[in-house]
Amino acid sequence: MLGGGRMKFELEIITEGKVKDAITECEGKHIQQIAYSSYHDAFTQICFNCKKIRTSLKEKELCLEQNK
Ligand SMILES: [Zn+2]
Repeated sequence: MLGGGRMKFELEIITEGKVKDAITECEGKHIQQIAYSSYHDAFTQICFNCKKIRTSLKEKELCLEQNK
């Protein structure tokens, strides 16, 4: 199923442990990208199959409040 370039990702702000659990869970089954920010000491996983962005970045680091 193709999204026609309009694939929507859900953002999950969770603990680093949970991001790592998700990485292990998706490994070998899903197409995923993992990014590590040494500045924030945070992991971010983007899984194209789960259509989720899981990150241990804090909400304030993402500046999400400013968009609300
Ligand atoms: Zn996945």
